[in-house]
Amino acid sequence: MADAYTRLIRSAPGRLLAARTPLPDPPRLLRRADRPQPVLDPVVVLGGSAGAERITATLLGWGADVRRRFEETSAPGSVVIVLDEIDAPGDIGPLVLPLAGALRGLAAGGRILTVSRPPTGQDPARDAARGGVEGLVRSLGHEMRRGSTANGIQVAEGVELDAPAVTGALRFLLSARSAFIDGQLLRIDGPGAALPASWDLPLAGRTALVTGAARGIGAAIARTLAADGARLVLLDVTAAGTELARLANELRAVPVQLDVTAADAGARLASTLRERGIVLDVLVLNAGITRDRMFANMAADRWDPVIAVNISSQISLVRDLLAADAAGEGTGGPGRLLGEQLRLVSLASTSGIAGNRGQSNYATSKAGVIAFVDALARQLEGRGGTANAVAPGFIETEMTRRIPPLQREVARRISSLRQGGLPVDVAEAISFLASGPAGGVRGQTLRVCGQHIVGR
Ligand code: NAD
Repeated sequence: MADAYTRLIRSAPGRLLAARTPLPDPPRLLRRADRPQPVLDPVVVLGGSAGAERITATLLGWGADVRRRFEETSAPGSVVIVLDEIDAPGDIGPLVLPLAGALRGLAAGGRILTVSRPPTGQDPARDAARGGVEGLVRSLGHEMRRGSTANGIQVAEGVELDAPAVTGALRFLLSARSAFIDGQLLRIDGPGAALPASWDLPLAGRTALVTGAARGIGAAIARTLAADGARLVLLDVTAAGTELARLANELRAVPVQLDVTAADAGARLASTLRERGIVLDVLVLNAGITRDRMFANMAADRWDPVIAVNISSQISLVRDLLAADAAGEGTGGPGRLLGEQLRLVSLASTSGIAGNRGQSNYATSKAGVIAFVDALARQLEGRGGTANAVAPGFIETEMTRRIPPLQREVARRISSLRQGGLPVDVAEAISFLASGPAGGVRGQTLRVCGQHIVGR
C-alpha cells in the first residue's frame, strides 16, 4: 500500500499539483506479482564481445525477445550493456552511447544492466575503464524514470559470462524482484553452484532459519523464502510469541522462541535443531533494534542493547552453530547441523555504510555486520558456503514508523525512487543471495535502498 503522500500525488488534484511544482512524484514500482516474467521484452544486448554472445544465448534460453541493436519501431523493455573487454575509458562511449537516444523510450519498470569486470590493480588504464563503469551505473540510476532502474554486475576475471552466478544475478536484477535496487554494482567472485531445477522454486529442498521473523522485514523474508520453496525455522523473542506462532502456522514452519542475546542462545538453538533432525542450509540474521539518540546524549542503556542484538548475537550464534556442526561431523556423532553450501545473509543498513545522525550505536553495529560477513565469507568458502549482507535504506516497517513524521517523510523521498521500500523488497534480495547460483557472491553487502542519499 502506497504511503499517504504518494496516494495524494496520484490523485487527480495531486497530479495537477505535481505537474506545476517541483514536488517529488514517486513512480509506481512493479514487483513480482505485477510483472512475473523474468525479463521485460524486448531486451537489447549491447556489445560485440564473446561474453555478449553468451549473455544473448542465456536470455534466448529464457524465451526472451532479444535484439542486438535498438530499433526505431520497438521501445526496449530492458538493456544489457556488456563491457567485459574494455581496456581504456575511451572504449566505453561507443558501447553505451547508442542507449542515449533510446533511454526515454524505455518501458515503465524497465531495467538497464551493465556487465563488466572489476579493477584488478594490474593495468591502470584498464582499471580506469572498469572503475568508470561504476560512475556510469550510479548516474544512470539517478536519471531513470517511471520505476526503471540501472544496476551492474562486476564479474571476476576467469568467471565466464554464462556461469551460474552470472545467470542467477542477471535473472534477479532484470526481474521485478529487484524493484527497489537502483544504482548498485554487485560483484561476482566465483562461478556459483548449479542453477535451480525450477526458477519458480529456487530454494526447493533447502531449510532456512530467519531470526526476528515475527513481523516487519523478518516476516516478509519468511513468506518470500517459503514461496520460493524453502522449509523454515522462525525465531523471535517470547514477547512476539503470538505473531510468531501465527506466521509459523501459515507457513508450516518450526517456531523457536528465543532471545538471540541470551548467553545460551546458540546452544539452545542447536539442541532444538538436533531434537527435530533439522539441517540448516540458509541462515538469515535479521533480528535488529534501534535506540536512536544524538551521541552527546548517548549512554550504555542505549548503546549496549543495539550492539548486543545487531552484531554481537550474530557472532556468537554463528560461532556456536559452527562449533555444534563440527562436533557432529563424521560417523558416530550427533549429526550435522549445517548443510553443504551454507548461505548466510545478515541485515546491515545504509546507516552502516554512510553513518547517520542520531544513529552512532546503530551505524556501529551495522558497519560491524558488513565487516563480519566479509571475514566470515572467507571462513566459509572452504566448505562451499557464503556470507553476505543486505543494506536496506528506508523500508516501511514498525521500526521506521517510530521516526518523527517530518524526518520520516524526508527520509522516504531522498532516494532516486522517491519512496520507501517494502519489506518484500529486502526479502527478494535475501532469497537471491540464499540461492545456489549466488554461491559466486561472497562477502558482499547489497544495498536495497532505491539509491538512497544515505550511503549511495
Ligand atoms: P522490526 O522492529 O519491525 O522487527 C524486528 C524483529 O526482530 C521483531 O520481530 C523483534 O521482536 C525481533 N527481535 C528484536 N530483538 C530480538 C532478540 N533479542 N532476539 C530475537 N528477536 C529479536 O524491524 P524491521 O524494520 O523489520 O528490521 C529488520 C532488520 O532490518 C533489522 O536488523 C534492522 O536493523 C534492519 N533494517 C531495517 C530498516 C528499515 O527501514 N526498516 C532499514 C535498514 C535495516
